[in-house]
Amino acid sequence: MGANRDVGKALVQFSIVDALVAGLFDGVFPVAEVARAGGFGLGCGDHMDGELVVLDGVFRLFHGDGRMTVLGASDSLAFAEVADFAADSSSPVDGVASFEALIDAVRERVSSVNLFHAVRVDGQFASVSLREAKRQSKPYLPLAEAVHDQRENLVTGVRGTLVGFVAPGVFQGVTVAGAHLHFVSVDGDVGGHVLGLAGLSGELAIESYSAVTVRLPRSADFLTADLDAAVAGADAAIRRAESEHQS
Ligand SMILES: [Zn+2]
Repeated sequence: MGANRDVGKALVQFSIVDALVAGLFDGVFPVAEVARAGGFGLGCGDHMDGELVVLDGVFRLFHGDGRMTVLGASDSLAFAEVADFAADSSSPVDGVASFEALIDAVRERVSSVNLFHAVRVDGQFASVSLREAKRQSKPYLPLAEAVHDQRENLVTGVRGTLVGFVAPGVFQGVTVAGAHLHFVSVDGDVGGHVLGLAGLSGELAIESYSAVTVRLPRSADFLTADLDAAVAGADAAIRRAESEHQS
């Protein structure tokens, strides 16, 4: 990361959320390339198949059919956001009642909400509400419709790790504004995109970043997509896709 010395460490993002909003779900970034940018983060699989958790350099994909696979170097991803995580601060949290309360705890611990923050929480959860997107087939539907096809899973009494980011609101569309967290259980078997949580006690580690590198796809679909048309109303679509329970 020597090239970034003058701006500090950078988060590295592969594709943009608005490309997903437009239904560009092909895996266009090899895991090997993403792994070079960091061993901590999240994303989604080729064909929007499942939720990616990157923790300690291991790429686990939690599929919409309930399976988990550890991805190899030649597997591909539609979207990923990774960092070379090394906590600036770490402190215990106890009895966190909700997702929103956890994000409040993050915001209390950082110097500014206008920077990017990577968040890692190792702990015990009374419950975690997860979703996993189901594999889509071409021609893809826009994200707002595709997310109706998702698995939801309420996991109770589980030990595991939250991995994710809190981004400034002005970056909605490039990434997810606000908090975006994925979960992996300590045994690595259960995971997904976090819709909610309760009764969390553990260790909250945060690293702040003032630099972001965004890698755009060079696929024919991306190069020819009418993103401006596709993302009209994208803010509402992202909010729904990130938080909506389908049940
Ligand atoms: Zn997610």
